[in-house]
Amino acid sequence: MNSQLNKVIATGGWKSGQPCPDREPGKVHSFRDIQSKPSPTAQGRKAGERLITSQCKFCGCLIVDCPTINL
Ligand SMILES: [Zn+2]
Repeated sequence: MNSQLNKVIATGGWKSGQPCPDREPGKVHSFRDIQSKPSPTAQGRKAGERLITSQCKFCGCLIVDCPTINL
């Protein structure tokens, strides 16, 4: 477990369906949001955009600054 703890595997976006090395073959990362911050751009803030950091609860890898709009 946590073989990739705090290793950043993607920035600004994420291609889903990537296999997780700490799970059985064929299983993918399972991310949970650990941090979010307002968009750095005025236009993004106006749209309600936030940048999310997510961590896989199995291997510990990170996806940083992934834009999300809260509806
Ligand atoms: Zn993983």
